[in-house]
Parts: sequence; C-alpha cells; structure tokens
Amino acid sequence: MITASTARSTIASLAILVSLPVLADQAEHRQLGPHVHGQGTLDIAIEGNKIEMELVAPGMDIVGFEHVATTDEQKAKVEKAKAQLADVLNVFKLPSAAKCKTDTANVESRKETHHPGEKDDDDDKPGEPQHSEFHATYTITCEAPESVTGLETAYFTDFAGGQLLNVNVTTPKGQTQAQMTREKPTLDLTGVM
Ligand SMILES: [Zn+2]
Repeated sequence: MITASTARSTIASLAILVSLPVLADQAEHRQLGPHVHGQGTLDIAIEGNKIEMELVAPGMDIVGFEHVATTDEQKAKVEKAKAQLADVLNVFKLPSAAKCKTDTANVESRKETHHPGEKDDDDDKPGEPQHSEFHATYTITCEAPESVTGLETAYFTDFAGGQLLNVNVTTPKGQTQAQMTREKPTLDLTGVM
C-alpha cells in the first residue's frame, strides 16, 4: 500500500513539474497582451560584463506588414530586417570605450499569440490580417562595462514604422523604465549600475 501510494504521489509530482513550464508560458503571453503598432519593447539586463537584450516589435513597425510574406519582395524585406536586427551593436550602439562584442544574436518573426475569447478573435477569419512580431534576443560582452553609460539606437532610422521603444533596464541595483523615440533615440544609463 505504501509503495503504491508513494508511486502515485511521485507521478503526481512529475505531472506538476511537466505542466509548470506550459502554465508559465501561457501566463507570460497573457501578460504581454496584443501589441500596439508603432510600439516595441526592449529589455536590457546588465550584470558584470554581460549584457542581455530582448527586443519585441510589431511586424508593422519593422517591415510594414504582418501577414505571412508571400511575394519575393516581401520575403526579401523580412530577410533584410532580420539581418539588420541581428547586427545588434549597429542597431543599439554602445559607447566604443566599453569595448563590447556580440556573443549571440537570434532573430525570428512569429505570429502574435492568439487570445481565445478576446475581441481580436476576428483576426482569425479567413482573409483577415493577423498580428505578427519580430523577436530578437542578444548576449553581449563588454571589456569595460563601466563605460556603458548610455545607448544610441538606429532602430528608428532602420525601421520606418517604429515610433517608440519601451525600455526596461535591470541591473544588480534594480529596475528602471525609460522610453526611446524617433525624437529621442538615446538612453541614459549613467548611475544604473
Ligand atoms: Zn499587429
């Protein structure tokens, strides 16, 4: 009896372990909600000499459409955008004195997560446009992280539809929020580390 009960609880524990990542994933998507055209988000985490960045931007901002690329011209536009976004230190310029180099850059375009029961269900009607977005993750190493006092972005000149980036900066000191815009394509990082 004890053995059977132990086995059952082990199985139950395993089931919980297996299902947790799925729940976390769903929670994350719910939290993100539908994106707003013109607005992207940039998360920056700085610790020691490592910088991690994550950019999520509407397809409309990056390439001017969100449907699946079908023509050669559209496909070329997506590929060009991905190449531009992969060149992270060109899109997000860090001070040269910080001597930063890109370790990894991963760019993909994905359909925005569907939210059952919400009004944008209409998006799934045949022929209706669906949201999609670009998602880029980067890891960067800087020889002189103390010189990372700011950042200047070419995002708004590279991508005609982008109007705003909501920026979250996380360092061992804490979290700060800021915005970069077409008018102010810079981020002040003095004092955040
Ligand atoms: Zn959209």
